[in-house]
Amino acid sequence: MLLKDMDCYWNPVLETLSRDELRDFQFKKFKRVVKWGYENSRLYRRLYEAAGFEPEDLKTWEDIIKVPTLQKEDYRTAQAKEPYPYGDSLCVPLEKVTEYHQTSGTTGQPVYQPDTWQDWEWWSECWSYILWAQGFRNTDRVFIPFGYNVFVAYWAGHYACEKIGCEVVPGGILNTEERLLKIKELKANALMATPTYVLSMAETCRNKLKIDPAELGIKKILCAGEPGASVPATKKRMEEAWNAKVYDHVGATEIGGWAYECLSQPGGIHANEAFFLVELVDIESGEPIEEPNKPGKIIITAFDREAQPCIRFDSKDVGMWGEPCACGRTFRVLKGGIHGRVDHITKVKGVLFSPVSVEEVVRGMPELGDEYELIVSKKGDTDVITLKVELVPGAETLKELVQQELVRQLRLKTNLAYKIEYHDFGTLPRYEVKAKRFKDLRNK
Ligand SMILES: [Zn+2]
Repeated sequence: MLLKDMDCYWNPVLETLSRDELRDFQFKKFKRVVKWGYENSRLYRRLYEAAGFEPEDLKTWEDIIKVPTLQKEDYRTAQAKEPYPYGDSLCVPLEKVTEYHQTSGTTGQPVYQPDTWQDWEWWSECWSYILWAQGFRNTDRVFIPFGYNVFVAYWAGHYACEKIGCEVVPGGILNTEERLLKIKELKANALMATPTYVLSMAETCRNKLKIDPAELGIKKILCAGEPGASVPATKKRMEEAWNAKVYDHVGATEIGGWAYECLSQPGGIHANEAFFLVELVDIESGEPIEEPNKPGKIIITAFDREAQPCIRFDSKDVGMWGEPCACGRTFRVLKGGIHGRVDHITKVKGVLFSPVSVEEVVRGMPELGDEYELIVSKKGDTDVITLKVELVPGAETLKELVQQELVRQLRLKTNLAYKIEYHDFGTLPRYEVKAKRFKDLRNK
């Protein structure tokens, strides 16, 4: 391979290993992290002892499925213990922890995520694969239009940008119009944002500033937080609005930034198999799925995370393997990105329906409040989905636009139609857990 071709890889060795070499490399790392968890975390010790499993039982690749999976709830249980706030999932002395982040808590009590400095450098390295694969280089000025708060994704994106030599502009404290003007002023040429915000920024740019976002000079956009960049219609809408290339990436606080789209845009995302073991298993039987085009649940292990290891974590995400990518990476492709969450999938009007995709739509629209209710009922023989939302103060006049965008996004993400009810801000019930927002009244 020519040297100039190798420039598309952050790590030309690991990203092009043969599948056999990659498997050997992964198995060594997998055994190491299982031993680390077993010896240093009471959480993993408890889990493995209850299942009668010991690290020595891991003799061949086929033994991997004998390692018990870890549920998000296991972290919560462990974190209710000492030492506060990480409990006995922590694998290092508390003094070694240098980074605090947490999950969003939309599915219950947030999981606290400790990282050591070594972990934090690992985060930047994982994200460097993502950025480099999407053409980010030291000539780029990257604008990040969010306050990062306690959530890890944009912090990691920020540090990885610096690591690969980009100039980073954090746009957290500004409002949308100010962010757009800052992009214009600084001639930023790259952006990281959620798909919903990418579209909403474009809207604000056109409607409020009377500027065509395509003229701002943004050439590439890294999307995170929602599956939109792997949904062809949403990707196209974003790319056309900004006259830019849009790339997907997938990560989670407990796992890391574990998958990314590349410049070839193969209609899916590469699992970063240098850092993660990404397993696809049958949702019912738990049997491994190796063949393409068969949906399954994604189980992930982060090989190198030391403070709070993530070993065979049940991500509850659904995906399927695709074909090898033209970019030459040997990392497998998850076709169509993430398809939804396994624990919320039910059938409505004969269509598999995932309430979490409605939440992504509702919460991603800045004109809508945090609270919503989703009720599935029966009218005669037909399933009816009622979605109750609140417009935030000041957004009442945008109701028509919101309605159009909401219907469009809901159909795009769930392939279903909804009866949408608007309620005055602050009048819908406030809940602690998401489960209460979704009511299925069909069997009552
Ligand atoms: Zn590729």
